[in-house]
Amino acid sequence: MRTNLKHFINGEWIESTGNETSDVINPATEKSIGKISLGTKEDLDKAVAAAKAALPTFSRTTKEERIKMLRNIAKGYEKRKQELIEVMTEELGAPLKISEEVHYEMGLSHFKEAANALEDYTFEKDHGSYKVVKESIGVSGLITPWNFPTNQTSTKIAGAIAAGSPMVLKPSELTPYAAMILAEIIDEAGVPKGAFNLVNGTGSTIGDGISSHPDIDFVSFTGSGAVGEKIMQNAAKTIKKVALELGGKSPLVVLEDADVEEAAKIAVSHIAMNTGQVCTAATRIIIPASMKEKFEEAVKKVLPSFPVGDPLNKDNVTGPLVAEKQWDRVQDYIKKGMDEGAKLLTGGTGKPDGLETGYFVKPTVFTDVSNDMVIAQEEIFGPVTTIITYNDLEQALEIANDTIYGLAGYAVGKDQETLDYVAKNIRAGQIIVNDAEQDRAAPFGGFKQSGIGREWGAFGIEEYLEPKAIMGVKVPAKV
Ligand code: NAD
Repeated sequence: MRTNLKHFINGEWIESTGNETSDVINPATEKSIGKISLGTKEDLDKAVAAAKAALPTFSRTTKEERIKMLRNIAKGYEKRKQELIEVMTEELGAPLKISEEVHYEMGLSHFKEAANALEDYTFEKDHGSYKVVKESIGVSGLITPWNFPTNQTSTKIAGAIAAGSPMVLKPSELTPYAAMILAEIIDEAGVPKGAFNLVNGTGSTIGDGISSHPDIDFVSFTGSGAVGEKIMQNAAKTIKKVALELGGKSPLVVLEDADVEEAAKIAVSHIAMNTGQVCTAATRIIIPASMKEKFEEAVKKVLPSFPVGDPLNKDNVTGPLVAEKQWDRVQDYIKKGMDEGAKLLTGGTGKPDGLETGYFVKPTVFTDVSNDMVIAQEEIFGPVTTIITYNDLEQALEIANDTIYGLAGYAVGKDQETLDYVAKNIRAGQIIVNDAEQDRAAPFGGFKQSGIGREWGAFGIEEYLEPKAIMGVKVPAKV
């Protein structure tokens, strides 16, 4: 059992002041893998006080010192590779292959990219009659979801360390153990006492406490739009800056000249990877009407190359959903799609054969979908996608942009000018063409209701900084 009932505050693992606990469930077995403490407001106050006390020294650490901390964390993370992979398979249900190739790798990349970005970063710049100095924003509160237990936490922690902002992290109560391993790694990496704190607990106590705390200057949140809205409202009372990474309903625009099988493979990979629990997943596949039959055939053909099943089996790509609540939610959406008149190409309600235990879902592809259907407009967060047809490129773009979201967009095809045109005309924060590799130095974040702010690399560091203008001092700016 992984039970750890302590919080990491001021460089130590300390007992909670309350006695409420919660079980962490392995979604593939439906069994508990351990307990965590559900922290209290008093625990949070202690963590915030530690972070506040660390601010004067942590914010004055040099760029070189912070680079060293980030590189040490990356090394510590690499040393605990196997443990991190296994914990994410247990708490999230991510197949071992995905835990290693996606989760582990993404978490590591953010520490490396923040260190790389710092190497070239200029905290002071001369503008003649004034200079601008970029300083730590103060104490940061970090609230993260369950779908990428190390990616979501690492990107925020790396940005805050790079900027010299002491922090309090509240990981998702569904997937807390990967974050607790991270806390141990950070503790051994030379990060000063109080600069990093972790308090476990519920959104309604610790999350709410972070977003309304008078001594927290900035909240970086990743999660649902509904909670994002609450956080903004809470933060308004003390005029805190907020960064929100929220949901998506991203389009994949398939051009007339695309390789049909390649396009189908990309489309299916989006619902297979992480069981579709990906905020950037393309779940509206927008194809030329003339390609419909061929594309549907190709989808059916490629589906078996993304096997669903036991996360401990190294061949599987798709595991269960994270929790029973999510399973029910996804089932409701599949029923809704059928009621709305969309046609099931594959999948449907219920569990896949032989996978009765665990929150497994049949990978489901709807066709004959119109963009105004609920299944085309709302984020399902499971292995469910929709095929929508278009007659000309302008109509494809109109459909692609007809959503409240703008997190990511995808295009597949051959003609580079058309691809560039599509990339520039989808209103979203990140566009990936022809399955290009996602560069973790590039900014990540949403347009429209997908959020506010950017993470990753240099853009991610900026979120934790305040620019200060200084006039009348003769000391030249440092590079
Ligand atoms: P969620 O919003 O329910 O929870 C996210 C975090 O917020 C958790 O730690 C939770 O405990 C906390 N929380 C809950 N209520 C709170 C409150 N009132 N105040 C403060 N904190 C509170 O989201 P989830 O179910 O964990 O994650 C799924 C959602 O996250 C999806 O909508 C998905 O699109 C989104 N997401 C977005 C991104 C992105 O980068 N844009 C990445 C991953 C997930």
